Amino acid sequence: MASVTYELIKTCKQTGARLGRVHTPHGSFETPVFMPVGTLATVKTMSPEELKEIGADIILSNTYHLWLRPGEDIVKEAGGLHKFMNWDGSILTDSGGFQVFSLSDLRDIEEEGVHFRNHISGEKLFLSPEKAMQIQNDLGPDIMMAFDECPPYPAEHKYMKDSVERTSRWAERCLNGHKRPNDQGLFGIVQGGEYEDLRKQSAKDLTSLDFPGYAIGGLSVGEPKDVMNRVLEFTTPLLPTQKPRYLMGVGSPDSLIDGAIRGVDMFDCVLPTRIARNGTCMTSQGRLVVRNAKFARDFSPLDPNCECHTCRNYSRAYIRHLIKTDETFGLRLTTYHNLYFLVNLMKQVREAIKADRLGDFREAFFEQYGFNKPNAKNF
Ligand SMILES: [Zn+2]
Repeated sequence: MASVTYELIKTCKQTGARLGRVHTPHGSFETPVFMPVGTLATVKTMSPEELKEIGADIILSNTYHLWLRPGEDIVKEAGGLHKFMNWDGSILTDSGGFQVFSLSDLRDIEEEGVHFRNHISGEKLFLSPEKAMQIQNDLGPDIMMAFDECPPYPAEHKYMKDSVERTSRWAERCLNGHKRPNDQGLFGIVQGGEYEDLRKQSAKDLTSLDFPGYAIGGLSVGEPKDVMNRVLEFTTPLLPTQKPRYLMGVGSPDSLIDGAIRGVDMFDCVLPTRIARNGTCMTSQGRLVVRNAKFARDFSPLDPNCECHTCRNYSRAYIRHLIKTDETFGLRLTTYHNLYFLVNLMKQVREAIKADRLGDFREAFFEQYGFNKPNAKNF
């Protein structure tokens, strides 16, 4: 029995979106799902108890950051990531590849792996498929990711083809290097940028290795939304129906809905937590910048339609005051609300799939959120 399995419950007749369930060694969760990001083994400002309260069943953590601090050996000694951070739900870790490619100016990609400098100390480091597996085996998440190359957008076809082929060779090395297949599921990552032929090649190479799940990488890297949607349209049908599909780094409400409609099951992004710390909130009426002066005397909740702890107890005026005065409590309140908003949005998406009306839900949500306006902000 594989450590991570997927059960397709039903497909929305109106849109083709999938309602499913992923089983991991730390429980099951329904999909489509949004996974809050806890980069350094903590979702910034949130306790694991609060994450449970908002309905999160799975969170993400970052291999690269935990490798550097505190070091995977310390996490292993603590009994793994779940024990170390006191989270008994499911955990997914990335491979570290994305950070190596995005944080580091000085890197040298070779067949063996990537040489780069630690973004904090400047120390020389080397990450390879085998090393990424060893770190993730020591961290002990339920789902781990293969080590891949994340080319920038846009990239030339020739560059992308070489990169896709290397990522496939690395994926095979990851499978061989993964030492705990009975309690950790390893997902492959389909790359290929905006090129349909390369996505096909990547999906073919990776599905032949029979991973328990597949991620779609190389999106949300600066390409327009219509490019992302088009790539999803031709990529998800290349993936097995009975395995979960994870779109990496996507967390704006419109992209979550549009991704689900194109057959994606799992999403993660730092967006809701990052903008919350800047005083920006996602609400059913659209984006709300609670820092703005116009909320100084507004004693209504962030989102009158939201039932979260923040909205039930605190006003825009109070939260604005906390954020303007750099009080940490303000960041906790906005973070709590934004995560609740996305976790709850996905719950509504699942209900709409159940009722075969995700298309209607999308239309109503986009209208209310303001995504249909000509100059709508993207999230
Ligand atoms: Zn709320």
